[in-house]
Amino acid sequence: MRRILVAGNWKMNTTAASGVELARGVAAGAPAGESGVDVLVAPPFPYLVPVKEALQGSVVQLGAQNAYFEESGAFTGEVSVDMLLDVGCNAVILGHSERRHVLGETDEVINRKVKASLAKGLQVILCVGELLDDREAGRTEAILDEQMAGGLADVDAEALKNVVIAYEPVWAIGTGKTASPDQAESAHAHLRKWLADRYNAESADSMQILYGGSVKPANAKELIGQDNVDGALVGGASLSAENFLGIVTAAT
Ligand code: 13P
Repeated sequence: MRRILVAGNWKMNTTAASGVELARGVAAGAPAGESGVDVLVAPPFPYLVPVKEALQGSVVQLGAQNAYFEESGAFTGEVSVDMLLDVGCNAVILGHSERRHVLGETDEVINRKVKASLAKGLQVILCVGELLDDREAGRTEAILDEQMAGGLADVDAEALKNVVIAYEPVWAIGTGKTASPDQAESAHAHLRKWLADRYNAESADSMQILYGGSVKPANAKELIGQDNVDGALVGGASLSAENFLGIVTAAT
């Protein structure tokens, strides 16, 4: 049985004070580990430390929204994997569509970040997803294949155990327009088959594949109820403890 993961990607939102308040609210309502549902929040870099403190004593894990692949040195503005581990991060979100399409990250750059994170034992939440044009042109699966092959190049089955995939159709992110449960299930089943073909059945079966894109308390149960959907990566709705915990409850 795969565990469920509900992760909140706060993106470039909150202040130190509101982030700490949000983290406290999530920590207070998160279910115990036996529930089968894990909960993670990913605040902006400057708030990792105060949010970590706010999560102290709770089961809620801490994630970062990005990392750089070099260890240290003259890379102005970048944050290393060691730095994230140093402040208590459990995971890092890589390859998010906003990093791909707004910040120009390529599969090659994402792959270097994936490998650098896995090499240090930091869990990777690797995001993949097609643009609306791709979907309308029938290229969804080809785009997913390309992003999976690119992002996971040179990642072996052992290292893959520390990877979670997040399927986030770009047209569903922040638009209020969610993929239907069937569309999500179909993409997730395709991703799992890709993993079985590229790795093996065991790797594919144990992989957590999250859905992201306008997940709310009202649609979470049906989406996460799909066979191949193992949780959610939540943007907008993760900025309210009530909404985020509503999604966690729906997943439990
Ligand atoms: P929304 O939930 O705001 O659509 O964002 C999804 C997302 O990008 C999570 O990483």
